[in-house]
Amino acid sequence: MHAVIKSTPGPGFIVADVAEPTPAPGEVVLEVEAASVCGTDVHLYDWNRWAAERVHPPRVVGHEMCGRVAALGPDVDGVQIGDRVAVETHLVCGHCPECLRGDFHVCANTRILGVDVDGAFAEYVAVPRRNLWPVVPGLAPELAALMEPFGNAVHACSAGRLRGQVVAVFGCGPIGCAAVAIARAENAARVVAVDPNRYRLELAERMGADALVAAGDDLEPAVTRAAGGPLDCALEMSGAPPAVVASVRLVRPGGWISVLGIGDAATTLDVGRDVVMKGLTLFGVVGRRMFSTWEQTTAYLSGPIDPAPLLTHRFALDEVDGAMELIKSGRCGKVVLLPDGRAGH
Ligand SMILES: [Zn+2]
Ligand SMILES: [Zn+2]
Repeated sequence: MHAVIKSTPGPGFIVADVAEPTPAPGEVVLEVEAASVCGTDVHLYDWNRWAAERVHPPRVVGHEMCGRVAALGPDVDGVQIGDRVAVETHLVCGHCPECLRGDFHVCANTRILGVDVDGAFAEYVAVPRRNLWPVVPGLAPELAALMEPFGNAVHACSAGRLRGQVVAVFGCGPIGCAAVAIARAENAARVVAVDPNRYRLELAERMGADALVAAGDDLEPAVTRAAGGPLDCALEMSGAPPAVVASVRLVRPGGWISVLGIGDAATTLDVGRDVVMKGLTLFGVVGRRMFSTWEQTTAYLSGPIDPAPLLTHRFALDEVDGAMELIKSGRCGKVVLLPDGRAGH
């Protein structure tokens, strides 16, 4: 089968033919219908320090996906050949202390699809049956692939009240833009979108942002002006140190912040002044809660939110280099790869 592969420890991917996977006990093999590209895939492509320390080539990359069940391994039930499913991409152990207390999203032994095991930028992929989630009825496969990253935004938005609140979203990539849509759907009083990139701000506006701030030197006064005063809540999706600092400075005493973005550099905060004395709640967001986040995601995408504007470009598997260059240009929302070549950008 055709697959996108990190073949050697270094930058780039190749597209090559590899053997189709067979399902181990407890696994199914999915025929991939659509797989969206994540920032993690860009790190793998660039072979940054995180990738070099974590990944052992050769590896089929890619994780965000929708597909149809094509084969069942031993000891699999509750799913039929042909079922269309999305996939929770964190493969957890089920027996560490975090798993035992139900916090599967922070399992110490997490393996990530397309990072630690062969992934979804391929015609077929093997995944544990327990990682399957039914696709929202009527949702196209290329949009169902977005359920996984959309779930990150759902998880971030679940940490506090949004209704009637003044909310700022720092970082308007696809997850930030999904958070804008969720805050809008939850009847936030005002949603301010912050990003240095014009293209992304326009996408945030389409998803329901009331005010746009082109992040620059005067970040804090610009956000305050756009918000009309202090923030009740910040959703930090950028990982950029100035945005993290601005979020704790601008949220009112007693407010809350979800922190999802991971920056290249460490952020220095005045915790005593800006967190303790203000009584802020900081909520770290990793992955999705299994599977309450998926349940909430299904509810949002079953009517209240149309994710279609988040998906801006389609490529065939063979065109993965073009997809990576486009993403690095910043002039796109979500990009999907279509294994059967129904691309057309
Ligand atoms: Zn991802
Ligand atoms: Zn575990």
